[in-house]
Amino acid sequence: MKLKILVDNQAKHGFKSEWGFSCLVEGMENVLFDTGSSAAVLSFNAEKFGVKPKQISKVVLSHDHFDHTGGLSWVLQNRGLKVFTLDSFSNETKEKIGKKAELIEVSEETKINEEIYSAGKLSNSIDEQSLVLKTGKGLVVLVGCSHPGLTQILEKASEFGKVHAVIGGFHGFSDFDALQGIDLIAATHCTQHKQQIKELFPKQSKACSAGAEFNF
Ligand SMILES: [Zn+2]
Ligand SMILES: [Zn+2]
Repeated sequence: MKLKILVDNQAKHGFKSEWGFSCLVEGMENVLFDTGSSAAVLSFNAEKFGVKPKQISKVVLSHDHFDHTGGLSWVLQNRGLKVFTLDSFSNETKEKIGKKAELIEVSEETKINEEIYSAGKLSNSIDEQSLVLKTGKGLVVLVGCSHPGLTQILEKASEFGKVHAVIGGFHGFSDFDALQGIDLIAATHCTQHKQQIKELFPKQSKACSAGAEFNF
């Protein structure tokens, strides 16, 4: 399985950066996790990777914030698209999706396909879903902003088995012990304590920005 970071706050040379996150999961089918803040940056970076909207069959939105839903129009041009939101997303977002694609509202743990699962709705102040990917190297947890707390997300993901990697925005996460035993940590986007995570887990930490690829 291959992961391509399409949008992030930082970008590799030749890619554009913006406040937001989007990652393409290439496995038995192409599943887009979040869409960044704008269709302009998402489409620019996707093109750089040679990815076209019609190659994407499913979209999963972690939570209803503009920096994760803002680029949706780029992929909504696509026919036969399935978009997984949470049942608690705003009516405005749901209607926008419902006009162009099949809307699937997640609350419990949900199978996206044979190798990709939504961990279901986790709540704190803001509802969010994360993905659990079953890869050749083990379980990979893909997170948007981790608003419900990364510790809670990792606990939920552990119900699927041992977590090999975690990638995405960790927000204000500082319960660093929760990362013990994870082989690959790619803290990006809104992560506030990037530097500390890097110092505590130097071998496990991997740089992550738009244009980065991960092979599992
Ligand atoms: Zn965010
Ligand atoms: Zn957010």
